[in-house]
Amino acid sequence: MKILIFTTLLLASLSNEAQCRPPDNLDASATKKYTLTALPYALDALEPAISRRTMELHYGRHLPTYVDNLNRLIEGTALEGEELESVVLMAEGPLLDNAGQTLNHELYFLQFSPNGGGEPTGELRQAMMHRWGSVENFKTVMEEAGRTLFGSGWVWLAADKGGNLYILQEANGLNPVRRELRPLLGFDVWEHAYYLDYENRRIDHLKALWQIVNWPVVERRYENN
Ligand code: MN
Repeated sequence: MKILIFTTLLLASLSNEAQCRPPDNLDASATKKYTLTALPYALDALEPAISRRTMELHYGRHLPTYVDNLNRLIEGTALEGEELESVVLMAEGPLLDNAGQTLNHELYFLQFSPNGGGEPTGELRQAMMHRWGSVENFKTVMEEAGRTLFGSGWVWLAADKGGNLYILQEANGLNPVRRELRPLLGFDVWEHAYYLDYENRRIDHLKALWQIVNWPVVERRYENN
């Protein structure tokens, strides 16, 4: 009986909510599979590397659109209910675009911290030294990959199953999981990520991002490879 009452109340509250929402958001309930990741810091916490205004638009407008599109496009397909990474691995077309961007931005926003910066430690540092000789050199190669990526896309630090590191340029919403590589650190070079703060100076934005990289998060992604 209690369950019945709860269900009735839930339905009543959903139907009230639905009246205030546009049709696309009618399913903003427990049935929704992919949700917006909560930020572990305030919108202005990453200043001056990323301004509050850029965060409001990037996290507050662009990302929810990708998540909404993903939920809409996946409905009724064979991939419905799959883990996000599996969807990115198997989808094509607009579903891939929006699943990829949902995954990319989840990794992106969770890899930053107002207390970030410095250098990686442990196994990741060792692998980086082995591949690029120094952390400084790694940063330069990553910046150059971001600077020279033509159009919209992402530059990634990624690892294979053997722990070897790679820097990849990915167009649009693609992600290293499509190459069977684990994404560790991603820099978004779509103009929406930096244009308000840096205008055409993409390289200045990329250099500033080192101030906010949360290396312990990136190290965990590497060690859980
Ligand atoms: Mn973006």
